[in-house]
Amino acid sequence: MSPVVAAGIAAAIALVAWGARTLEGPAAVAAWSVGTLVLAAGGWTGGAALLCFFVFASAVSHLPPALPTPLDPRGHRRDARQVYANGGFAALASLLALLGVLSPGAALWSLTASLAAAAADTWATSVGALSPRAPRHLLSGARVPAGTSGGVTWIGTAGAAAGALLVSLPAALTGHSRLLPVGTIIGMGGMLLDSALGATVQARFRCPRCAAPSEWPRHRCGTRTRHEGGWRWLTNDGVNAIATGTAALLGWAAWRWLSSS
Ligand SMILES: [Zn+2]
Repeated sequence: MSPVVAAGIAAAIALVAWGARTLEGPAAVAAWSVGTLVLAAGGWTGGAALLCFFVFASAVSHLPPALPTPLDPRGHRRDARQVYANGGFAALASLLALLGVLSPGAALWSLTASLAAAAADTWATSVGALSPRAPRHLLSGARVPAGTSGGVTWIGTAGAAAGALLVSLPAALTGHSRLLPVGTIIGMGGMLLDSALGATVQARFRCPRCAAPSEWPRHRCGTRTRHEGGWRWLTNDGVNAIATGTAALLGWAAWRWLSSS
């Protein structure tokens, strides 16, 4: 798609999301930049994958949780950093295709796999919150409070598969049928990597004022939190970016492998 048309369509969608208060101003600009690159390199198919991620991720993040979570809610927060953590590698694959480094097919596989991982993680968190039972820690198996990074539920895992499948569908319907299972599997793998990092090295904080656990250097009450464990610099956004970046690489590798066989 011509970059000018891509920029126009992405701007219209970002404006709607901003008007509906789904995205804050800087996040809407970030989403516009991601949308422009993905549409320009991936055409309608890439754009549909991005829209499938964005529309359904926004929808499931409004599902009411079954259990109260002591942690800061993260589903509703849509700032620029979160947009790039989820869509940055899809944008990078698109940029590499526009520069002629990646073929259009490789870019489509890479960006679809990356967005499938972003969808799987969002769905796992939001759909998993519907679970009437507290999640289990991915590694220790112990019950942890709802919303804890690294906590997994069966319903959340099923949701992750549905999210990854939906994002892979546009490419599968337009001549890349093998991307349906491959994108879903890579998306699930990205979600598992996200949970594993969340369970181990992701920074954990605690608000001294509310005595509540938090994932962020500043609690929702406005108080600076104390570092309690994990790598201080590795926030939830960082973990998301590692998962979507790994999925982008795996999508590219799968395309290389399958297109040569
Ligand atoms: Zn607090």
